[in-house]
Amino acid sequence: MKTSCFHLYTLKETPADAEIISHQLMLRAGLIRRLASGLYTWLPLGLRILRKVEAIIRREMDNAGGLELLMPAVQPAELWQESGRWEQYGPELLRLTDRHQRDYCVGPTHEEVITDIFRCEIKSYKQLPINFYQIQTKFRDEIRPRFGVMRAREFLMKDAYSFHIDQDSLQQTYDHMFDTYSRIFDQFGLKYRPVNADSGSIGGSASNEFHVLADSGEDAIAFSDQSNYASNVEMAEAICTQTREAPQQSRELVETPGQHSISEIAEFLSVAVEKTLKTLIACGEKNQLIALVLRGDHDLNTIKAEKIPGIASPFQMADADEIKKQLGCDIGSLGPVELNIPIFVDRSAAAISDFVCGANQNDKHITGVNWGRDLPEPNIVDIRNVVEGDPSPDGKGILSIVRGIEVGHIFQLGDKYSSALNATVLDENGKSVITKMGCYGIGVSRVVAAAIEQNNDESGIIWPMSLAPFHLAICPINYHKSELVKQAADDFYQQCQQKGIEVLLDDRPLRPGAMFSDMELIGIPHRVVFSERGLKQSQCEYKGRCDDQSQDLAIDDLAEFIKQKLSG
Ligand code: ATP
Ligand code: MG
Repeated sequence: MKTSCFHLYTLKETPADAEIISHQLMLRAGLIRRLASGLYTWLPLGLRILRKVEAIIRREMDNAGGLELLMPAVQPAELWQESGRWEQYGPELLRLTDRHQRDYCVGPTHEEVITDIFRCEIKSYKQLPINFYQIQTKFRDEIRPRFGVMRAREFLMKDAYSFHIDQDSLQQTYDHMFDTYSRIFDQFGLKYRPVNADSGSIGGSASNEFHVLADSGEDAIAFSDQSNYASNVEMAEAICTQTREAPQQSRELVETPGQHSISEIAEFLSVAVEKTLKTLIACGEKNQLIALVLRGDHDLNTIKAEKIPGIASPFQMADADEIKKQLGCDIGSLGPVELNIPIFVDRSAAAISDFVCGANQNDKHITGVNWGRDLPEPNIVDIRNVVEGDPSPDGKGILSIVRGIEVGHIFQLGDKYSSALNATVLDENGKSVITKMGCYGIGVSRVVAAAIEQNNDESGIIWPMSLAPFHLAICPINYHKSELVKQAADDFYQQCQQKGIEVLLDDRPLRPGAMFSDMELIGIPHRVVFSERGLKQSQCEYKGRCDDQSQDLAIDDLAEFIKQKLSG
């Protein structure tokens, strides 16, 4: 490809509305353009990368026995009513009505449609297991679309759905998909980690996410330093090894005027934050309030809290006015002593003695409080986020926490959709049985952003070879003025093309600096420069995207040198 025949449109300035580096670089390098909130056009350069991600996924899915199909983006409401998700899904589901007043949605995911296809097409256990997949556009009306294609409203997903006669078969395919995902992410050339995960609104039991590791990732991942344990912090069990000591202090009501946050209280009373409790009030079912008590230095995990019986789903903190009305004080003065609503206490909060907590009167706290003496023995639950240094839940090692971007998610759905939509087959004995299902997603467009998030420097994007839009840039200096340069560049360009090398010849009349910075910004892994001065000595210049210095090469060695570089 020559730049004169391509649409290369780079920006010098960092767009003001782009918060994270991948979003900034995707705009600056001309990979995407915003149409409206969460809606992006993939420009030719960006599309080349997106297609590479797709190609790797497609190849590995085909190798793993997946069968590609393509389902409609628009789905009839009836199917979603059958599964119950028309009501459950909430405002993320974009609903529309056609000219006949029939309801539809734009698919955020395709469990319903695939299950409908299955029940119409597949009749016998002999046709199982079967694994269908597609690479298709999804729409989710995200509450906060942001970070460009990382959290868009319309995005490209690979979604696969497998059907099975029993759990053993599902487990086998699930394990096979786990391995296939590992191969896919290996081929992307990205640093990633599979982790245990929550199955969210898609439902089902076992589930793993695949995360690309990057500091800006929205998810926190906990992993053990001594085993394979790795989990989304949302799911990681918090282990408390501490045992509660006997009370030493007596209970005392103290004035804490104007001190509201845990750190203010701890400092004001000169106690460690670990010796304080915080009391959070969640909405329960039927307008009831429920208290969740944690150690002052710990954070509530709402995914865990939502699983407590009686807590409203989706999880919601109670409103400050409602708290004041029902409990008689502001949020900063709450505590579990003589609090007449259901109270659930985190394991670590239940293991401390002589602690400080709010007195349920404004500007008052109680010190020297002890479970079992000043208030009943706690109702213990696991509701906090794990922190760095916690013991690993598998009993091996301690946890570290890194940030990740969720790019893939696999689930065992069991019979959640197959029983709702009555997807059955006849078994060996001619008996009708409900099938088991698995589903397997990869955020194709998010992978592109995640790759950039992980691989960039001050000059721009650094593509791994497998995703690079072009492998080699040819930068001729004075292409339009020097016949010698033009000849050498065109010759080498043609050689590369004949060998099937994905090469971009920059034939724009630009200064060398501007040309180089564009090629670096768009992240082409290898660059060759032809100049009249060099050519007169039968030389050219090579620089790898991450090399500090360029190196001179004899023209005669160039082809072999590049061949080596591209194969390595
Ligand atoms: P998240 O937790 O990031 O909202 P999710 O768990 O809702 O994602 P899944 O239903 O598991 O997403 O979808 C499969 C994959 O699709 C995700 O792993 C992610 O890579 C991608 N994905 C989900 N939502 C978006 C989005 N709004 N924009 C881009 N990619 C997305
Ligand atoms: Mg997910």
